[in-house]
Amino acid sequence: AKPISLEKILFSQGFGTRRYCADLVYADLVKVNGVLAEDPGERISTEGLTLTVDGKDWEYHEKAYIAFNKPLNYECSHKTTHHASVYSLLPAPFVERGLQCVGRLDYDTTGLLLISDDGQFIHKMTTPKKNIGKVYEITTASAITQSQIDHLLNGVVLDDDPRPCYATACHQISESVLAMTIVEGRYHQVKRMMAAVGNHVAQLHRAQIGAYHMPKDLPEGQWRWLYPDDLRLLS
Ligand code: URA
Repeated sequence: AKPISLEKILFSQGFGTRRYCADLVYADLVKVNGVLAEDPGERISTEGLTLTVDGKDWEYHEKAYIAFNKPLNYECSHKTTHHASVYSLLPAPFVERGLQCVGRLDYDTTGLLLISDDGQFIHKMTTPKKNIGKVYEITTASAITQSQIDHLLNGVVLDDDPRPCYATACHQISESVLAMTIVEGRYHQVKRMMAAVGNHVAQLHRAQIGAYHMPKDLPEGQWRWLYPDDLRLLS
């Protein structure tokens, strides 16, 4: 990759306007790979670059791909109605550079949420054509029956669309916990599918997207970068 001016790099990573980013450098608040920067116009390589801004280290990522463990009672929108926004749990530069949720989880759903500023990636992950499975762990209000599972696998018609939606896999984990895979992302899809087969979702958690599992060591409310090996599991 071609070297880029430091000021432009800082801007691209969400640290503020070009002018503000230049001022950060003049204020001795920016290090490049651990070395104090002096000139905002200095062209530097983005290869394996780590910036330190106001004492905090930031890996350079041309495009951001992030896995987030969504806690209960946060909404996946910027303008929220009744709850805090998931964006309030992310570092300010991420919001500044325009990171968006890749599909939404309801405020009362927990688990794996992808966040990115790569429009093509967001489209690829959310279009049903790509058949990317999302695995939900569903805790139900009443015991799950085999006929409910059969119904989910054979297809359920919801009230706003004559085309049925299907569970592409169901694994019953306990009497009232079901791991269900779906490939679409219709509005409240899992809750409506469960209601349509005569049960009710008490708790909903997304555990997996494609072959990528929620990292076991990622606490609720925390995020991590996705690297090429992770991204391969998603496609
Ligand atoms: N289906 C739902 O009903 N809610 C979610 O948050 C995700 C899938």
